[in-house]
Amino acid sequence: MAEPRAYLDYNASAPLLPAARSAVVAALDAANPSSVHAEGRAARRLIEDARRDVAALVNAKPDHVIFTSGATEAAVALLSPDWRMGRAALRMAHLYVSEADHPCVLNGGRFVREKVTRIGVTSDGIVDLDALALALASHDKAEGLPLVAIHAANNETGVIQPVAEVAVIVKAAGGVLVVDAVQAAGRIPLDMSVPYADYLILSSHKIGGPKGIGAIVAASDLMMPLPLVPGGGQEKGHRGGTENLAAIAGFGAAAREALAGLRDIEAVRQRRDAIEAIVTELVLDAEIFGKRVERLANTTFFAIPGTKAETAQIAFDLAGIALSAGSACSSGKVGPSHVLKAMGHGEEGGALRVSIGAATTAEDVERFRKALAGIAARRAARERAA
Ligand code: PLP
Repeated sequence: MAEPRAYLDYNASAPLLPAARSAVVAALDAANPSSVHAEGRAARRLIEDARRDVAALVNAKPDHVIFTSGATEAAVALLSPDWRMGRAALRMAHLYVSEADHPCVLNGGRFVREKVTRIGVTSDGIVDLDALALALASHDKAEGLPLVAIHAANNETGVIQPVAEVAVIVKAAGGVLVVDAVQAAGRIPLDMSVPYADYLILSSHKIGGPKGIGAIVAASDLMMPLPLVPGGGQEKGHRGGTENLAAIAGFGAAAREALAGLRDIEAVRQRRDAIEAIVTELVLDAEIFGKRVERLANTTFFAIPGTKAETAQIAFDLAGIALSAGSACSSGKVGPSHVLKAMGHGEEGGALRVSIGAATTAEDVERFRKALAGIAARRAARERAA
């Protein structure tokens, strides 16, 4: 019988939760939610229930949730120079992002390259607040407002950004703040009812829902970007096209579970800490990135000096452990981590990311130990032979 595997790659995609699977299957037969007949109204109810659940996860108003095909679409929709405030046109003149943002933000959405400024991060991966304030101080408001985008928590390191402090700086500059909360949702409490972000970006598959569905959550719907996908008026005209009802229903179910799961986060932290203890026990010179600052409880990102992360990842995979080298976010492509580079950690061998969830067991942790012990033994043998 095949050895059971340990899936330690939740930041890539969390396993589909049973409740999300059931909600998806139950919604597959639903009618068109724009139809006025009873079947259409039942389908509409499914969407509105999910909208309430997604809003509750971040304590927002359900009316301010707009479903998109994922966080990438949500980012590209929001990162636009062209906005509306009621009927009036509004211009965002320049976009400010952090060097450690996910590519869907880093690439600047609908801004031309010259209108995007990348703000550096410290060696711990925290956005350089002084550099941000300085950049915003020289923003020319005559051209339009400054738009700032930052992730709440990093997908590779798990480092949590000081979003409240960023918000103060952005407000002082009269700007608008978009926060990519994809990795933070369900892992730290998020509350849109207090001053935080103007807009949040969420993704279903990072919290145990289906892939290909996400959301924009607005603190207020006074100002919105021109739609990226105009169409038949769905999502209050902010995102056209018949809604992906099954995925939306699954996202709603996952959001409900993620909100309840926040109370289990300390148990997740203990398992992550156990994994880190194994890393430092078996690899004495291992480097854990972002360890000095606040991080998500489920993530550790570490380098084994002298061992290429890609090679170690393959060894882990063969030993039955699924984890990531770098971010590995795009179609199996593993390249140097732009996050590590932004943190000033050069290009040495890259790093390995272990990201877990409430379903991660003590057996998974033991399997990780066995696999890492093998990798460490081979490394020691290599060093002896050299
Ligand atoms: N933002 C962050 C921080 C992510 O980790 C990811 C996915 O890895 C995304 C955005 C993109 O999400 P989606 O796959 O829903 O487009």
